Amino acid sequence: NSIIIPELAKEPVEPHINLRPQNFDEYPGQERICENLKVYTQAAKLRGKMLDHCLFHGPPGLGKTTLAGIIAKTMDCQMKVTSGPVIERAADLMGILASLESKTILFIDEIHRLPANVEEILYSAMEDMRLDILIGQGPTARTVKFDLPPFCIIGATTRAGAISAPLRDRFGIQEHLDYYTPAALSKILLRSAKIMNTHLEEDAALLLSKRCRGTPRIANQLLKRVLDFALVSNKVTIDCDIINQSLNRLGVDSEGLSLMDREFLKIMEERYQGGPVGLEAIAAALNEEKSTLEDVYEPYLVYRGFILRTARGRMLSDSGKMHLNNI
Ligand code: ATP
Repeated sequence: NSIIIPELAKEPVEPHINLRPQNFDEYPGQERICENLKVYTQAAKLRGKMLDHCLFHGPPGLGKTTLAGIIAKTMDCQMKVTSGPVIERAADLMGILASLESKTILFIDEIHRLPANVEEILYSAMEDMRLDILIGQGPTARTVKFDLPPFCIIGATTRAGAISAPLRDRFGIQEHLDYYTPAALSKILLRSAKIMNTHLEEDAALLLSKRCRGTPRIANQLLKRVLDFALVSNKVTIDCDIINQSLNRLGVDSEGLSLMDREFLKIMEERYQGGPVGLEAIAAALNEEKSTLEDVYEPYLVYRGFILRTARGRMLSDSGKMHLNNI
């Protein structure tokens, strides 16, 4: 059954270590969203009903899947996980929906990549808790209605704009996850270090938190690599010194930008005199998919103000130029 993805964790470098928070208290950052979700889940439980359908959008690695798992645990529900690109046919989705047990959360990652004919199945399922199945063809065709048990869909996407309005409107709860502050990332790193039985000094956690693109997934990945460097250099405690050494070797600069981020900025400056330039041209120069640049690299560069998105194309900002000159 490849349509339901059993593995929640996507990046278990050491598979036995699960760094995913299991409840709201273990989930620093996104405070407003968490506080609201606590209320919505509590209210749903008091009513004895399922939670309204939720849509989480924002850049990759900010904790959308994790949040869905926390909601499922809080609601005492089981969660099934699937993703837009693996549901190719309407029948695939019908099969998933028809087999849902009562009070299941169906998490659909990359929901913006559901094909249009599949998406339409969701409309009546989400709104009326019903599947309308068309049987037969031509004049003898008839629709059979199939009632679904109470369930909740949690959709996640890196591109809210790519979701059609009818689908978006069926999500009663919609939240945008933003990049994390260094303070929140510090807490995440200290918790991860503790789970991995390592002593991470507080100032070292803060230093690392400022160089991980505001993203918990990157923070945890960098921490794991720092631990490798520390182990090989016989360091028992993770301090600022080993963080600086490791990040320099990993090519992560003072602003947390990776080699690819800097290439992105460099191409804009060196080949296009700072722009305006289209994303297609940058993607071709970097030999990278346009969608990867759009989903993974560009949002943080825009967030930090290194790139400006204008009607004529992307432009390198003054701070982007300054950063390139400083490295
Ligand atoms: P994608 O868009 O790529 O599917 P995502 O937004 O669903 O990413 P997650 O998979 O939930 O992100 O989170 C990535 C990793 O970051 C997880 O392994 C989790 O351990 C960690 N993480 C995310 N948010 C938090 C948080 N608030 N506190 C602690 N760890 C977090």
